[in-house]
Amino acid sequence: MTFEELGLGPNTLRAVTESGYTEPTPIQAGAIPKVLQRQDVLGIAQTGTGKTASFTLPMMEILSQGRAKARMPRSLIIEPTRELAAQVAENFEKYSKYHRLSMALLIGGVSFGDQDKKLMQGVDVLICTPGRLLDQYDRGKILMSGVQLLVIDEADRMLDMGFIPDIERIFKMTPFTRQTLFFSATMPAEIQRIVDTFLHQPAKVEVARQATTAKTVSQNLLSLPRNDPKAKRAALRDIMVKEQLKNAILFCNRKKDVDVVAKSLSRHKINAAPIHGDLSQSIRTETLAKFKAGDIRILVASDVAARGLDIPDVSHVLNYDVPFHAEDYVHRIGRTGRAGRKGTAITISTPIDHKALAAIVEMLGQDIPEYHLGKTAKAPAPKTTRKPAPKVKQDSEPKPTRTRKPNPTKSDSKPKKPNKQSKSGSPFGDHMPNFFSQD
Ligand code: AMP
Repeated sequence: MTFEELGLGPNTLRAVTESGYTEPTPIQAGAIPKVLQRQDVLGIAQTGTGKTASFTLPMMEILSQGRAKARMPRSLIIEPTRELAAQVAENFEKYSKYHRLSMALLIGGVSFGDQDKKLMQGVDVLICTPGRLLDQYDRGKILMSGVQLLVIDEADRMLDMGFIPDIERIFKMTPFTRQTLFFSATMPAEIQRIVDTFLHQPAKVEVARQATTAKTVSQNLLSLPRNDPKAKRAALRDIMVKEQLKNAILFCNRKKDVDVVAKSLSRHKINAAPIHGDLSQSIRTETLAKFKAGDIRILVASDVAARGLDIPDVSHVLNYDVPFHAEDYVHRIGRTGRAGRKGTAITISTPIDHKALAAIVEMLGQDIPEYHLGKTAKAPAPKTTRKPAPKVKQDSEPKPTRTRKPNPTKSDSKPKKPNKQSKSGSPFGDHMPNFFSQD
């Protein structure tokens, strides 16, 4: 299958070729013809599958006919986070190079003045987070009656973040005759209900879930015998010495730890910076830009802040904590080994991670090979004579037996109970970063 066969016009094809894409990805091959036929589409796909182009490319074709009126966007792309919205906008600019389409980004942290000016001039595509869109709508700054195309991206993430009521409102505000393109990596019951309620006989395009991780990523597990934060940070530095890593995204389960670890690394003269929801938009944007430019070597991140960010060429992913949700493990390590490059993922586990680790191994259907710090770096020496924590893979090792159950009450990193909105899996539980309220 080629891009030409999908029904895209010459201006789009030229931009696609210049982007270096030679053939459509499965989600693109499945969705683009359906969108061009003006059908509603339910795309079940994750980031990394090329789904952004699967909706933006045919949208450009459709929107190339007609003109935008003041305050009446002709299409909406709704994203759960500011970063994702900004990323989609970047993609859109790249793909629409040879079209005369106007695009505006409506997200928190960006001045109202500029956004409003653009809206006044009329936009073909408005890329936004739900909160900021509704805010502007309620102020009478936007009219929805001209919306022909509505894209809801990362719907399951919207659910995690408690945005479903906003999404329902947006559906109800836009014309019944609109075309809807709806993307979600998973289909929990609540998402299915939304699809059943608001989409009209959608064409379902499902691409294989990345339940298995890319073969280009070598996975490793460093099991520490105790949950001692100091020893953990020391082990982290040892990994960095041993790996001589070019750059890395380092994931922590809690934003509190994102700060602690980033500070600790900086104290040890390691070029690191945090990214999470409590930081201002300008700092997050700047940090991300610096990381992309290679001016920051280690990006210390929380799951939601990093989700979906397309950062090419990351040599390592380090899991400072085993993620609470197995799915996040796949997302995290998917940040490396992209575009056929080799990548390394190293996960640090302590006895309290036993359950989470078991869930990951079950989901992967395979063990994670054990990582040895070796002699080049000093491993944190256990102070007690307790046997080591269980290791997931013991191919070449004698099998240690589990000696004790984790005692989460003693742990300083006890997972917080998820709040109502994060039942389906937000790792932030009841301390959801304010970043995700968007404004
Ligand atoms: P996405 O899932 O939209 O975040 O896309 C993931 C990455 O794949 C981005 O870096 C895109 O630039 C890239 N990409 C999208 N479509 C293609 C394609 N047909 N061939 C190669 N790379 C692509």
